[in-house]
Amino acid sequence: MHAPPSRAQLIEHRALFIDGQWTEPSGADVIEVVSPVTEQVVGRVPHATPDDMDRAVAAARRAFDDGPWPRLPLADRIEVVTRVRDALAARREEIAELVTLQNGSPITWSRAGQAMSAVAAFSTTLAAAADLRLEEERQGLGGPVLVRRAPVGVVAAITPWNVPQLTLAAKLAPGLLAGCTFVIKPSPETPLDAFLLAEICAEAGLPDGVVNVVPAGRESGAHLVAHPGVDKVAFTGSVAAGKSIMAAAAQNLTRVSLELGGKSAALILEDADVSAAVRTIVSGTCAANSGQACVALTRVLAPAPRYDEVAAALSDAFARLNVGDPADERTAVGPMVTWRQRQRVLDYIRIGRDEGATVLTGGSVPADLDTGWFVQPTLFGDVTNDMRIAREEIFGPVVCLIRYDDEDEAVRIANDSAFGLSGAVFTTDVDRGMRIARRIRTGTLTVNGFRLDLAAPFGGFKQSGIGREFGAEGLAGYFEYQSVALPKTPATITD
Ligand code: NAD
Repeated sequence: MHAPPSRAQLIEHRALFIDGQWTEPSGADVIEVVSPVTEQVVGRVPHATPDDMDRAVAAARRAFDDGPWPRLPLADRIEVVTRVRDALAARREEIAELVTLQNGSPITWSRAGQAMSAVAAFSTTLAAAADLRLEEERQGLGGPVLVRRAPVGVVAAITPWNVPQLTLAAKLAPGLLAGCTFVIKPSPETPLDAFLLAEICAEAGLPDGVVNVVPAGRESGAHLVAHPGVDKVAFTGSVAAGKSIMAAAAQNLTRVSLELGGKSAALILEDADVSAAVRTIVSGTCAANSGQACVALTRVLAPAPRYDEVAAALSDAFARLNVGDPADERTAVGPMVTWRQRQRVLDYIRIGRDEGATVLTGGSVPADLDTGWFVQPTLFGDVTNDMRIAREEIFGPVVCLIRYDDEDEAVRIANDSAFGLSGAVFTTDVDRGMRIARRIRTGTLTVNGFRLDLAAPFGGFKQSGIGREFGAEGLAGYFEYQSVALPKTPATITD
């Protein structure tokens, strides 16, 4: 049994995890983790410097170039990665509580969306790896060719604070199975659960240097991205950071996968069951990690004849949500992760008012919560798709309600976005829902629901990203293909 992390008790790590050892950091800077509920320091870890990044890359490089990991048979890697998955599952409650402590994610959401989703990401990737053949002989034009899947190499995994374990699992599971080695740079807001993962990796029997954990801010992150020893950057975060990472990676033609932001649309068709749609939209917006979710359905498109009904039902549902302590199981909406993030959300609420949108519910900070970075679930009505609140990612419990006249206009509005991450269509005619889904340019979509299925490829169209995570397509991102033209005598296939 573990003791739940207490907000009164400081969790402190004094070492970085480099080359399989807990290693003294090269600088004296520390990252302080501040509770978004109490505004008090709850954790402290070393802030990795560029020198520490160099040491971590060197360790990952050695483990890749000379170590056993990439050369093991796939079945052996599956065995070790299964142990990592099982340890994550065994420590799921500890992980959920640690994530909640750091970023204020409501505990019920943390259990499902943070801890168990990370376990599920490992499970679906392990299942995909079980079907994989790393080498296959084909008949080419001039004779036999051996087509190999070779691991891409040293991966820099850079993750955000909103779903820290899931975004890490999405990279680590396929990358480890492929035979890659890792330098993990967690976000400075949420380094503590990455240390727990380092412990798990060490105990699971990963060879030294295969996983290194070096928390830091943007500057050390930028050093890591530009490092010539890194073969691939696997990034989840904002569009702005994604663009600078892609530009930096271009210098060495380092491979990138980018999982970025969203401004996804929920299309309610005129035949939809509005109360069911509203229940789902609540769970896909304000109640999804307090609105701090890349896939949130932040633009709700309502048909003109049913606009008032949707507005009333959504306002009512948002106003009923329990806002408060994320450690309390009755809480649906916790705080924003930082003071700065809350300020950003409040700034957008002001911008929405200035642009002429109507606040239908919320619009401020809760009167009864004077400590902690809370925002009321907020619904804007009379939004047009050209307003900034409809175009930019707010990343908080703020939703825009947009009126449309016919199906073509709804599809046009849904697609009129720089993003293309997620979405939903609500209708009693599932075939019609499918026809509309095919017209929407986003990486994922649900008909009559809000489901991110971790067995299917996940990622963005347009500025929501490049590449896919999860399942077989997630694994593919960690391989390079190598074609070996063979002499006409048969070769030995090793895996
Ligand atoms: P962020 O871009 O500010 O930071 C993400 C990570 O990148 C952090 O670890 C940060 O330290 C690091 N970083 C920032 N700039 C960097 C640079 N130039 N070089 C190297 N590292 C750098 O994002 P955030 O505020 O932590 O997270 C929220 C964002 O993440 C939102 O836009 C959200 O939509 C997105 N997100 C996307 C997905 C997805 O799968 N598509 C999932 C979760 C979050």
